Amino acid sequence: MHTTELKHGRTWLIRLDTDAPLYKQILDAGAELGIEAATFTLIGALQNVVVRYVDQEAKEYRDLELNQHMEMLSGVGNFSLKDGKPFVHCHITVAAEDGSAYGGHLHEEKPSLIFVTELWLQELLGDAPVRLFDERCGLALWQ
Ligand code: ZN
Repeated sequence: MHTTELKHGRTWLIRLDTDAPLYKQILDAGAELGIEAATFTLIGALQNVVVRYVDQEAKEYRDLELNQHMEMLSGVGNFSLKDGKPFVHCHITVAAEDGSAYGGHLHEEKPSLIFVTELWLQELLGDAPVRLFDERCGLALWQ
């Protein structure tokens, strides 16, 4: 177990921009507010969804592209530091027109475009957790 004690800082409710890529909007909000460590939740609707699934045997991500309008039932994530810069880790659960749910790790490069998104952002104060590459999992994990 790797534990980091942090204190609650500022809290924001933010409406993100329609037609903007979700991952980049979250990252940009953090940059604008000067955040290094935070937790957040999201609700809204997306115009398309690109998430990833980690194949634990191959230690690589597989992309899932959903080219349809989706409700974003829930998004949860955090900010920490990777390579000396703020990094966003976010998972989302989305629903199709018939209510069936999909989800995964929000893709950092392939955009999921916002229709409407409300972000509840909780800044955390103290030494931000730092992500370093972990050989066992093949992922950048908190140290
Ligand atoms: Zn993830």
